[in-house]
Amino acid sequence: MYTLPIEAFKSIETPFYYYDMDLLRDTLNIYNSHLNKHNYVAHYAVKANAEKPIMDEIRKAGFGVDCVSGNEVKLAIKYGFSPDKIVYAGVGKSDKEIKAALKAGIYAFNCESVEEIKVIGELAKSMGKVAHISIRVNPDIDAHTHKYISTGKKEDKFGISPWMFEDVLNVIQTSNHLELIGLHFHIGSQITELGVFKTLCQRVEDLQKWFLDRDVLVESLDLGGGLGVDYVDPVGNPIAKFDEYFDIISKNLIVRPGQSVHFEPGRAIVAQCGTLISRVLYVKKGKGIKFAILDAGMNDLIRPALYHAHHKIDNLTSTGRKLRYDVVGPVCESSDFWDKKIVLPETNRGDLIAIRSAGAYGQVMGMRYNQRDLAKAYYSDDLKK
Ligand SMILES: *Cc1c(COP(=O)(O)O)cnc(C)c1O
Repeated sequence: MYTLPIEAFKSIETPFYYYDMDLLRDTLNIYNSHLNKHNYVAHYAVKANAEKPIMDEIRKAGFGVDCVSGNEVKLAIKYGFSPDKIVYAGVGKSDKEIKAALKAGIYAFNCESVEEIKVIGELAKSMGKVAHISIRVNPDIDAHTHKYISTGKKEDKFGISPWMFEDVLNVIQTSNHLELIGLHFHIGSQITELGVFKTLCQRVEDLQKWFLDRDVLVESLDLGGGLGVDYVDPVGNPIAKFDEYFDIISKNLIVRPGQSVHFEPGRAIVAQCGTLISRVLYVKKGKGIKFAILDAGMNDLIRPALYHAHHKIDNLTSTGRKLRYDVVGPVCESSDFWDKKIVLPETNRGDLIAIRSAGAYGQVMGMRYNQRDLAKAYYSDDLKK
């Protein structure tokens, strides 16, 4: 259904990112239908992909944003997102970043330590403002995902553990410049065992009760992001399991009158609409294996090298007999490989290769290592014209 315009690709210099904007819009529409059904609110996680055309679609779909740096807050405002729909997390917010966010009047600081809350209080006081605080809770839940993208276990650096709540509440309640508005959770990324979200809902209720016992009803419950996508069969499953996800949440999360429920999806919105397109430079004969050497490398998409991530590789221009290849990049690092011993139709110099599911944590992590150029982006809306 969401096919790649291979003819148009033939005249474009590789490597480049291609974004299917119809898939992005369909994903946003389906996500929105769930939000509307339950009266939930979404804040797109900017760090997944910050390209302007992508962010424009997401803004038009009515989403707010979830930022993890001052520059993301700045960028979101520049791209037209309303500050009162911005939430801002991160374990290491600098004074400069906090002041800029206070000045902009964001919806919530998702705070990750009592030390940070104290600093926000002091800075808000010096500016004559009141900061909205949401406590990012570390609920000690194993999200069953790669250890580098797990964020909700007690040994992870993120969030505030429940044993600190007494202190946190005291700091907030004794300041005239801090207002507690919510509880925030984000337990990890690429979560595919959706039962984890049921556990999360149960933990949210346990923790809410702790606050209710102290006569505090928080206005906002923010469940973060983390829903995984299908990296193995992206063409067969271009849209994440939103039905199952929202079914689990709506059946298990207890919401009280006056409370709003927020989500911060990143990957599940943008991963599948992006593809990294590359050409084969050489097919090199090795001992018992052939290397297909691509012109796209780890500097264009670092996920395989950084967290052993798998991306499906397709040869778009060959229909030859099936052979086995190690598919590698050109960068001078042994970790710069795409996949090993995979079956592709007979591959030759000049063939176009698609590296699928590259829309999230792809282009945005691009770097110039080896002095390589940054890959450009092309959008389906423009290529069709
Ligand atoms: C990265 C991040 C997200 C988005 O996570 P996905 O797995 O891409 O949905 C949401 N909230 C916070 C606080 C994050 O750091």
